[in-house]
Amino acid sequence: MPPVEPRVELLSCTPNSVELIYAAFRQCYHAGFVADLWPLLLSGEIGREKQAEFIENVLSSGHVSPVEHVSFTFAAEGVSRALTHQLVRHRLASFSQQSQRYVDGGNFDYILPPAIKGNPEGEAAFSSCMEGLRKTYRRLKSLLEADGRGDLAAEDARFVLPQAAVTRIVFTMNCRSLLNFFEQRCCNRAQWEIRRLAHICLALCREALPVIFRHAGARCERLGYCPEGGKFTCGRYPVREQSFA
Ligand SMILES: Cc1cc2nc3c(=O)[nH]c(=O)nc-3n(C[C@H](O)[C@H](O)[C@H](O)COP(=O)(O)OP(=O)(O)OC[C@H]3O[C@@H](n4cnc5c(N)ncnc54)[C@H](O)[C@@H]3O)c2cc1C
Repeated sequence: MPPVEPRVELLSCTPNSVELIYAAFRQCYHAGFVADLWPLLLSGEIGREKQAEFIENVLSSGHVSPVEHVSFTFAAEGVSRALTHQLVRHRLASFSQQSQRYVDGGNFDYILPPAIKGNPEGEAAFSSCMEGLRKTYRRLKSLLEADGRGDLAAEDARFVLPQAAVTRIVFTMNCRSLLNFFEQRCCNRAQWEIRRLAHICLALCREALPVIFRHAGARCERLGYCPEGGKFTCGRYPVREQSFA
């Protein structure tokens, strides 16, 4: 089987995102009604650079909630169920995932972890297990169909599908949730597959909205030290104790 690579596309981002975040921030500190400023923001009379500078200043004070008004929607394929099981733990997000009840899994592709790929005996065991699961899935599905389960046969046959099976998912997060997602999942301690996804999403976010995502990433990037502690640190940044010694 050819290696399965992740494909992640940015489907949508809230339009006029810089102006929207600026307007939300300004409403907090402005005596007037921000809707009256809105045309000036869109026309450029209050320039984007000025807006971005204002946003960066307020953000650095720790006031973050106005970035919640802007959301990003991604579509991902070529990722495993093991990955999406971790992804959907992020509750401040919306998800729509390809169903294993309605989509046949008889020829599922799978993700081969690099560490197993690098071990010929491990790779052979892994591939043979996947082939066995495909066969068992197909067998179970046809047995259930013969029992009259009809379209519902896949619903039970899917119980043998592995975490390695690839899936497709659409997910939406607002900027604040994304910043939290990147802090956790861009960390070198995060599991390799979701870390790879997080870095792809971060690159897309940086391109679309640099004012918010220019400095985003693992928590150490913001803190300037590693919050994981001496036992777990990857060594990229000094740990907290060293940093404040
Ligand atoms: C390296 C790593 C290892 C992990 N290992 C495990 C593991 O072994 N087992 C496991 O079960 N999970 C594990 N997780 C998942 C982790 O516990 C979180 O569920 C997941 O990362 C989502 O983070 P979150 O809650 O910050 O995000 P979200 O669910 O998107 O929430 C965002 C923020 O909203 C706030 N919030 C959301 N819900 C509540 C609430 N009910 N009450 C109060 N505040 C709330 C919090 O401030 C939270 O940070 C791991 C995560 C990482 C990064």
